[in-house]
Amino acid sequence: MVTLEAIMQLAKRRGFVFPSSEIYDGFAGVYDYGPLGVELANNLKNSWWHTMVRTRPDIVGLDSGITMHPKIWEASGHTTGFADPVTTCTKTGKRFRADHLLEDIGVSADERMSIEEFRKVFAEHKQSLKIDGCNPDDLSEPEFQNLLVTSNLGTLGSDEVTYLRGETCQGIYVNFKQVLDTMHLHLPFGIAQVGKAFRNEIAPRQFLFRTREFEQMEMQYFTHGEDSKQHFDTFLQLRLQALKELGINEERLRATPHERLVFYAKAAVDIEYQYPFGWKELEGIHDRGNYDLTQHTEHSGQKLTYFDQDRNEHIIPSIIETSIGVGRLFLAVLCDAYDEETLEDGTERTVLRLQPSIAPMTIAVVPLMRKDGHPEKAKKVYAALAQQYSVYYDETGAIGKRYRRADEIGTPFAVTIDYDTLKDDTVTIRHRDSMQQERVPIPQLIQHLQNTL
Ligand code: ATP
Repeated sequence: MVTLEAIMQLAKRRGFVFPSSEIYDGFAGVYDYGPLGVELANNLKNSWWHTMVRTRPDIVGLDSGITMHPKIWEASGHTTGFADPVTTCTKTGKRFRADHLLEDIGVSADERMSIEEFRKVFAEHKQSLKIDGCNPDDLSEPEFQNLLVTSNLGTLGSDEVTYLRGETCQGIYVNFKQVLDTMHLHLPFGIAQVGKAFRNEIAPRQFLFRTREFEQMEMQYFTHGEDSKQHFDTFLQLRLQALKELGINEERLRATPHERLVFYAKAAVDIEYQYPFGWKELEGIHDRGNYDLTQHTEHSGQKLTYFDQDRNEHIIPSIIETSIGVGRLFLAVLCDAYDEETLEDGTERTVLRLQPSIAPMTIAVVPLMRKDGHPEKAKKVYAALAQQYSVYYDETGAIGKRYRRADEIGTPFAVTIDYDTLKDDTVTIRHRDSMQQERVPIPQLIQHLQNTL
């Protein structure tokens, strides 16, 4: 399997992902998507939106603010309960997620434990911990650190704080009633949203897997409580299928039910991907009962209910949630597509075998020569293809090198303009995976590509 190091190097070298603020020595927990990364990330988001909203008559979209009334985070329990246990090495000053240190030696701690209970478990296993450059005796007693990121937006000059949202779904819950009333929806129905979330992760690590600023794609499905199990099972299957359809190898995907549930949850399953650093959560599917709407009803004093005409009663719907991070999906897709291949002539190539629908660039247009009318003709072909596809033009270096560069960023097709093009108006299409080439007349090029894609 590919190493995380190889993925990070490729991502940086080819303009997929850059570490944040590098000219100022970097800023931990944040990454910037470069020219190719933004294309790939947009394709992933569009694909999600297509599956979860555009093709679903029962699901609508939303884009709520990143900052909201601070009471929302009290109602949701985030101001008190959204915390991870942290321990500090007193010699080096390094901070660690204490529950992750336990996990590394096979001890899982209950998320609901009080800090006293957690400290007891931690003390029992402390001596067995294995940490690079730190002696377990030097670790401090764990403390809970809240993950909410605070801001002073709109509170300047007062003692109050606001928060950057820790998850996008709260914006959906607080808009539930307005969406319901304006769109005349009937149970069951869903509201979906894609957007940034922020968490003060103690130890951001593993590249895009755990960052402090990230994007989530979340869908909340409102249903009668008695139907929730059926919808939970359906959405779990739908999400697994959607991930496979992005081209992710199904052997590297698995569904793992949570061993312990938070008190309000009825069911929770992690869809895990086998990253280079092990099986980890890629997406969560949760049956949240009617906890969220009940909490916001209590804290806001507004009735977040649904009037069921058949039953002639007001009910608080239950919620099935699907939640996936764009960065974690991006990383899974890159790891899955990465391949190093030795060719028949003994040379090596790196190729990203990305599904054509998500590849950042679909076509490379390459003139054979930088003279004799090739660039002029190639630019015309580029302009025609760019109306429909994500295309780039590349005239620098030997043709073989240009093909390798296209392979390395996962470009499914290269269209080459050569001497014959000028005579008979045909071009060569070179296929990324098979490296086979075929000759196609320019007037039929778009139709031909459409049939192939
Ligand atoms: P973990 O246990 O790995 O911290 P979580 O259970 O806290 O994750 P959720 O709160 O369920 O995660 O968030 C839903 C999804 O958002 C996750 O499945 C993941 O894809 C994404 N996500 C959560 N935290 C991060 C993060 N710090 N960086 C990148 N993506 C994240």
